[in-house]
Amino acid sequence: MELPSAPGQRKRYSVQESTLAPVSPRPGELGRGPLSARGAAGNPMPASLKVECGTDLDMDKVVEISGLSKAYTQGHEQILVLENLDFSISKGEFVSVVGPSGSGKSTFLNIIGLLDDVYSGEVRLFGRRIEDLDESEKAVLRLKNIGFVFQFDSLLPEFTVLENIEMPARVLGGGDAGRGLELLKRFDLEAIAGKFPMEISGGEKQRSAMLRALRNGPALLIADEPTGNLDRHNSGVILDDLRRAAGLGAAVLMVTHNDEAARRADRVLRMSGGKLGDSVP
Ligand code: ADP
Ligand code: MG
Repeated sequence: MELPSAPGQRKRYSVQESTLAPVSPRPGELGRGPLSARGAAGNPMPASLKVECGTDLDMDKVVEISGLSKAYTQGHEQILVLENLDFSISKGEFVSVVGPSGSGKSTFLNIIGLLDDVYSGEVRLFGRRIEDLDESEKAVLRLKNIGFVFQFDSLLPEFTVLENIEMPARVLGGGDAGRGLELLKRFDLEAIAGKFPMEISGGEKQRSAMLRALRNGPALLIADEPTGNLDRHNSGVILDDLRRAAGLGAAVLMVTHNDEAARRADRVLRMSGGKLGDSVP
């Protein structure tokens, strides 16, 4: 039974009477794909995931979501953070989601970015339902096909910018400084290739982190408040970069609490009261 809630507040459900039933992992279980049943080793990768570069993927719709709901348990209550959301984003699109702090933006991104698999509804990445992916497939998607940019840059301080950018390729067993340098040139950043994070500005750090996210050619770039720590000028530069990334074929999904930043996207959606709607200009 629904508990009374003030206008504008999120709905709260008592745990016992909740009709919303997010699929919860059992204690100790990683999520919906038990490793024992679909082990990481020797599991043939479906053809649709055998990709070198995100832009080689066939699917135009990179993310398709219908009826997504997510609740967090707090004490004896469930707080409904996302309520029956529908959403999609295609290759080459730059979409922003704007909403106040606490409105569920990061929760939304974490589900799409395969960082959280406790929800109800259907989420498809590159045409496949997330719950049908096993852990090794998710790992490949995260490394190759999804790039993440967060509010804080998280560059490794003991490596140069170029080495940081090459890191995701090295994790995949590759690494080719030529490609990293090419990326830096494309974004007019070759001058800082050999510098260490402590030698560059906050804006340059964030841009370097973005190039690291782009290094493996992801089809989807997820940016969670990428300008949250930057001044106006550097925010503008990052937003230009995100647009450029979309121009290279990635679907770029950014969340922000900043209306001005959000308006730089092709499409602006507003997160409010657990719902995702068109933003009124
Ligand atoms: P935003 O990114 O828009 O600021 P979040 O997605 O981080 O919002 O959080 C949305 C709501 O969910 C907030 O009320 C927050 O307190 C709550 N929340 C986020 N993560 C958790 C968690 N792990 N457990 C319980 N509540 C959470
Ligand atoms: Mg957030």
